[in-house]
Amino acid sequence: MKNVIILGSTGSIGTQTLEVIEKLENKFNVLGLACGSNVELVKSQIEKFNPKYVSIANQKDIVELQKEYKNTEFFYGKEGLLELSKIKENDILVVATSGIVSVKAVLSAIENKKTIALANKETLVMAGDIVMKKAKENNVSILPIDSEHSAILQCLNKIDNPYAKNLWITASGGPFRNNSREEMANFSAREALNHPRWAMGKKITVDCATLVNKGLEVIEAHHLYNFSYDNIKVAIHPQSIVHSLVEFADGSFLAQMGVPSMHIPIQYALSYPERFEGIKTNSFNIFNQNLEFFEPDNQKFPLLNLTIECGKLGGIMPVVLNAANEVAVYKFLEGKINFLDIEKTIIKEIESAKNILNPTLDEIFEVDKEIRKRLG
Ligand code: NDP
Ligand code: MG
Repeated sequence: MKNVIILGSTGSIGTQTLEVIEKLENKFNVLGLACGSNVELVKSQIEKFNPKYVSIANQKDIVELQKEYKNTEFFYGKEGLLELSKIKENDILVVATSGIVSVKAVLSAIENKKTIALANKETLVMAGDIVMKKAKENNVSILPIDSEHSAILQCLNKIDNPYAKNLWITASGGPFRNNSREEMANFSAREALNHPRWAMGKKITVDCATLVNKGLEVIEAHHLYNFSYDNIKVAIHPQSIVHSLVEFADGSFLAQMGVPSMHIPIQYALSYPERFEGIKTNSFNIFNQNLEFFEPDNQKFPLLNLTIECGKLGGIMPVVLNAANEVAVYKFLEGKINFLDIEKTIIKEIESAKNILNPTLDEIFEVDKEIRKRLG
């Protein structure tokens, strides 16, 4: 029985992680949960899973919770996340918060030798060099939850596979794959949120429509697997059945397939290197699958290459891109800017940014904060 603490338990990945654990209740125990402001949902999670530790964003919410749930110890804020990262009896820390709130908790969990099941891509995009260096020093595994990176791990078989030549990351292409740029300019948040294959949180769904998500995933893969950017390729695969591929030196390609559901990569990150029967066992019908692969259209979706370019430049540039993108995406979701303005906001920020190579964590947070303040 392994103990699991989930940061971001009330979100899309967090709730699905709890579904996986519920199904595998004899294998995993929910030791702790952390969320932002969805107190009602976390209450029902406490009742169902009886965690020993819970952290929520605001201090004011814990007074009532502590009275109601006497067997649970409550924490709050970023300090609360840090506390959960250190709990002695924990085995696996699932990082499914959005944004950058958990970066310090991830570093602390690594120092405390906890296995990290990582959904949050901002952690690696912003501080990949720092996080992976610390993981190596502490001999800690960072197991990906993101479906593409889970697929790559499954194909590589072991993280440092010397025969792997190229990583091929697949992308559905998003809801606007077949639309013109003129049409895109007029699409609302509702249309951008209508993802053809995956049900996810709002921010990442918009990132799929702009293809920024795929660029962030290339950066994530670069850090996780220590692959040069020239050996990480992107293929548009509208069916979202092949979740990614690895090309080997002898011309063999290995692909990982299955229904587009986060339950499978979440479960694999928890069970690695074992596999158990789970929610999605028997969910895939191999017959009548029509699998297509296309080159990305970089004219129509310039943010894919721009994001990868920021990854290649390294230093503070991925931080600039990530912050500008996040502010722009939330403005778009609020109806304040149009879809193509996301692109304009990011390009303007990148063009005026001054790179800092090998930034410290403080410099990363400072630049991130400055951009959010200025654009917000
Ligand atoms: P959601 O927006 O659905 O969930 C975010 C979670 O983070 C919620 O539980 C939220 O709590 C919590 N949270 C937000 N702010 C804080 C805070 N200050 N303190 C503590 N908790 C906080 O996001 P997703 O589940 O979609 O995505 C999570 C991460 O996983 C992202 O980085 C995303 O890129 C990545 N990812 C997601 C995939 C998906 O399928 N959804 C696929 C691959 C990666 P509350 O709601 O209570 O405020
Ligand atoms: Mg993904």
